Amino acid sequence: MKWIGRRQSSNVDDRRGVSGGKIATGGGVVGVIIYLLFNFFSGNNVDLSQIQPQLAEQSNPPLTDEEKKADDERASFVKVVLAETEDVWNTIFSQNGQQYSEPTLVLFRGRVASACGHASAASGPFYCPGDNQLYIDLSFYEDLQYKLNAPGDFAMAYVVAHEVGHHIQNLMGTAEKINRLRQQSRESEFNKYSVMMELQADFYAGVWAHHTQKVKAILDEGDIEEALNAANAIGDDRLQQQTTGEIVPDAFTHGTSAQRVFWFRKGYETGDMKQGNTFNDASLN
Ligand SMILES: [Zn+2]
Repeated sequence: MKWIGRRQSSNVDDRRGVSGGKIATGGGVVGVIIYLLFNFFSGNNVDLSQIQPQLAEQSNPPLTDEEKKADDERASFVKVVLAETEDVWNTIFSQNGQQYSEPTLVLFRGRVASACGHASAASGPFYCPGDNQLYIDLSFYEDLQYKLNAPGDFAMAYVVAHEVGHHIQNLMGTAEKINRLRQQSRESEFNKYSVMMELQADFYAGVWAHHTQKVKAILDEGDIEEALNAANAIGDDRLQQQTTGEIVPDAFTHGTSAQRVFWFRKGYETGDMKQGNTFNDASLN
């Protein structure tokens, strides 16, 4: 992505210098957003470190000068991506006679407190509907590249745009509606709704990529492939196979690799918000 020199969002709360004391390693599972969302709406705060208790905690070592430089560059990059999402979503909302309320991005290192509870780097990037904030530990960039084999700047751009997609769902009332449905459902149904929400966030990420490219032509060749590769890498089936060696569809909460690729691509190819009804996806019912 051609990002250097472009506008960086000012809706950023940089807490990387604030010591969380500990960092959890391992994991790297993207988006426990639905879990957070439902816990938020049901009034239970949740400590994300308890979701993945198998992850060992270790001290959070200070960064070397070189690491700090790389981290700062990544911070600049995600600020540009966030600014690009603001431009696109402001336009789309105003075309529909609505006003877009821009989310805040919290950059943290190690651990962070949110309105949805405490989180660690191992939780992966997430969106908290309770405070309308996106939370990203930039070490996820390395997880994408090395642990999930999804390198490239646009892989990370896709992740940011996906979290912004959850913000869109929050603004449009989808998150609340789905939560009501979920409260009357069994666990496998709960997971089904989670998958639909996640796939719609992927679709919105694709819609963003479509419009940002159409208006500004800032994508490099291969960027969409990087995003599709990341969507493929963080499908539940791939992650489950990597971690447990078997696939349990009922436990899916984000969608399979093929589903994630399908919905991101659909958003990217159409750029049309109306095409994003993942709740009518026959393969999910
Ligand atoms: Zn998500």
